[in-house]
Amino acid sequence: MTVTQDRQMTYVKMRRLVSFFSALLKGKKADFTDLLHKLVSSQQLCQRLDTQKILRRQSKLRKEKEEESTVISVNTESSPMKPSDFDYLKVIGRGSFGKVLLAKHRKQGGYYAVKVLQKELIVKRKEQKHVMAERSVLLKALQHPFLVGLHFSFQTPKTLYFVLDYVNGGELFYHLQRQGSFSEHRSAFYAAEIASALGYLHSLNIVYRDLKPENILLDSEGHVMLTDFGLCKEGVSIGGIMHTICGTPQYLAPEVLQGHPYTPAVDWWGLGAVLFEMLYGLPPFYSRSRAKMLENILHAPLLLLRGGVSQAACSLLQSLLERDVSKRLGGSHDLVELQEHPFFAFINWDDLLARKVTPPFIPKTTGPCDITYIDPGFTLQPVPASVDERCQTGGTSELFPGFTFTHQMEDMAAQLIS
Ligand code: ATP
Ligand code: CA
Repeated sequence: MTVTQDRQMTYVKMRRLVSFFSALLKGKKADFTDLLHKLVSSQQLCQRLDTQKILRRQSKLRKEKEEESTVISVNTESSPMKPSDFDYLKVIGRGSFGKVLLAKHRKQGGYYAVKVLQKELIVKRKEQKHVMAERSVLLKALQHPFLVGLHFSFQTPKTLYFVLDYVNGGELFYHLQRQGSFSEHRSAFYAAEIASALGYLHSLNIVYRDLKPENILLDSEGHVMLTDFGLCKEGVSIGGIMHTICGTPQYLAPEVLQGHPYTPAVDWWGLGAVLFEMLYGLPPFYSRSRAKMLENILHAPLLLLRGGVSQAACSLLQSLLERDVSKRLGGSHDLVELQEHPFFAFINWDDLLARKVTPPFIPKTTGPCDITYIDPGFTLQPVPASVDERCQTGGTSELFPGFTFTHQMEDMAAQLIS
């Protein structure tokens, strides 16, 4: 597929496709919090503040581990985690290289989203760099409240596994589709949480690049959770990504579409596109023709209909969806510039980051393995037997040096429980 392909596609069809590929974004936070509950149930140790402290400590350990793992070649035999450590319960999504499954850790009992990647496909498409970039970014991003956390990554001869927080409140746009559009207040809340996550990534010199509906999930409390770091720019060349990004061009900054050098400001364009869709129910520059839409993104004036959208909102959209990067909001001082915009005047950014701002919508989930908000198109699929290494046949037996990663703290806790 190329970016110039002209394909007639109604918006509804496109959204359906988008949902299909992303309705998996249902999260579960049974993970480490559950584990802590089990360890010290009488002491409320699972409260976020305490968890944060431990996560900070984990992050230190993780950094050490990461440095170590970039030089050590992986021996899957001695790897502490393996596919059979999990029970695979449901298919919850599909990624480019395999399925995403809801899984329960057999010893710890926590629920996770396990992203399974077929090495053969990765090697065929020469995507090793992106996969390793995703792992690297996931490791760094764990400590942010609005970025999905990676607990483990491991490999068998044929397959790579990412063990992530299961985020079960549904895809942001699953909810948007049902509502048509969101109020300004609700849109500002989500935009602010997304902005805070993007600002954090930028502070680590990571450009997210792939802000689009299916990568924005809500957790069980209604907070935003960004997932899918496969296209993050962290030492990955531009040339290699163009075929990957053409799936959803409507959220991409003009400079990315044109293959020009770009800066973290591409993410502020992406945020503008997502905010536009939250307020108006359609992406900016939308056309049924893909070629026309690309043309619009590059050259058409931004149409801001007034109906119920405030001046502050219009001004923010204009400033984010600004083609001239030097004039784009966030282009010079990044997140700080957005934080000062009148559209976010009611946001207390410290409270937001501490997850103290009450979300405008709280998903109705019944527990950490709830799949209410996952597309039945996924959950009704049979769980492939091949996710268990004992059932694997064929494929490339290729090593991805340094892929394997385990939290020492979680390992210790698992041993305590078992
Ligand atoms: P693509 O490249 O096709 O966008 P991908 O290979 O990068 O996909 P992801 O986007 O990471 O894969 O995951 C595919 C889908 O699985 C997501 O769109 C989402 O619906 C679901 N998913 C991924 N991670 C999680 C998670 N932690 N919790 C719940 N669902 C998830
Ligand atoms: Ca994705």
